[in-house]
Amino acid sequence: MQRITILGATGSIGASTLDVLARHPEQYQVYALSAHTRVEELAAACRSCRPARAVVGTADAAARLALLIADLPTSVEYGEQALCDIASNADTDTVMAAIVGAAGLAPTLAAARAGKKVLLANKEALVMSGQLFMDAVREHNATLLPIDSEHNAIFQSLPAAFGRVPAAAGVAKILLTASGGPFLNRAVETLGDVTPDEACKHPNWVMGRKISVDSATMMNKGLEVIEAHWLFGAPADQIEVVIHPQSVIHSMVSYVDGSVLAQLGNPDMRTPIAHALAYPDRIASGVAQLDLTQMAALQFFPPDFTRFPCLALAFDALRAGGTAPALLNAANEVAVDAFLERRIGFRDIDRVIRHALDAVEHGPAPSIEAVLAQDARAREAAAHAVASLH
Ligand code: NAD
Ligand code: MG
Repeated sequence: MQRITILGATGSIGASTLDVLARHPEQYQVYALSAHTRVEELAAACRSCRPARAVVGTADAAARLALLIADLPTSVEYGEQALCDIASNADTDTVMAAIVGAAGLAPTLAAARAGKKVLLANKEALVMSGQLFMDAVREHNATLLPIDSEHNAIFQSLPAAFGRVPAAAGVAKILLTASGGPFLNRAVETLGDVTPDEACKHPNWVMGRKISVDSATMMNKGLEVIEAHWLFGAPADQIEVVIHPQSVIHSMVSYVDGSVLAQLGNPDMRTPIAHALAYPDRIASGVAQLDLTQMAALQFFPPDFTRFPCLALAFDALRAGGTAPALLNAANEVAVDAFLERRIGFRDIDRVIRHALDAVEHGPAPSIEAVLAQDARAREAAAHAVASLH
């Protein structure tokens, strides 16, 4: 019996995880669930899987949850310390890190430091902390498995038993596929007018609003380039982004002998979730088998960096190293929030990020504290830029 903690149980990844777990009650038991404010949804999840613990964001949310599940044996807690505890407690084996944004860093890192099996959806945590996170995984013997569909596909396309690209594996390139999002073919001049709902209408995936906007700007792919760098030890020049609008090939690895290995499937996050949960075994996920005969033509082309300036900013941040990716991520979170709240336009997102990157100088990242200090400075600079545009 594997005991699971789900950080961010009420989100899109959280719901898909609960769906896969419910198909295999004899193999998995939920130890703890977390949510930020969506108390009713968390109460429903507690009712179906009866975890020992449930953690929310505030005292008020905890009081509301406690009322809703007073008849259950689940203890209700709140705050970051409680999140870190459900991620690192001896009573859990596996942690699904599915909180969105920098808020997930502390508990995800706590899971790594406790040597857990960490299923990583929360890419922002790794983008921010990079080497520090990978060091924690190594030092504490944690197992890190990628949930992001692209990284899960790359992991599956690498030589067996190797999570990270070994120098001798003959890998020439990692080919990170991208759908291009909802604005791949929209006239660039009209991008200034798009609404949050239009930006969140992804052609192939149903996801949380933050990652949906990131997909529309392609900052999501930029964060994924940085994520791939850390997960697989590949330098920026070895990672190539390929636009593939159908999202059937989830990513590929190209080898020096000319072979290209790919992972294909219907675009449904339950596949990578089931893969990581059961690794190295396989379990059913509820995802329909891919019917190749029903598939339209698959297309591939290079990304347009002028249409998607955020992708270029992310490559620059990766090459700059140190705290540059943390600055990029923090500024992006502020800009996306402002866009979702209609305080800035879609085309202002990259402007705000650029302003913050110009205002705050990046430096080395010797500790998590240093990263968080830089994160706070970038948020301040980005908020300033938002205010001046507003
Ligand atoms: P979502 O917005 O649907 O869910 C986010 C979850 O995080 C919720 O449970 C919410 O309660 C929790 N949360 C939000 N703010 C919080 C805070 N301040 N403190 C604690 N908890 C907080 O997001 P999602 O689409 O499920 O994405 C989650 C993560 O997975 C993101 O990092 C995203 O980039 C990554 N991811 C998502 C998908 C996808 O298909 N949805 C695919 C790949 C990677
Ligand atoms: Mg992805």
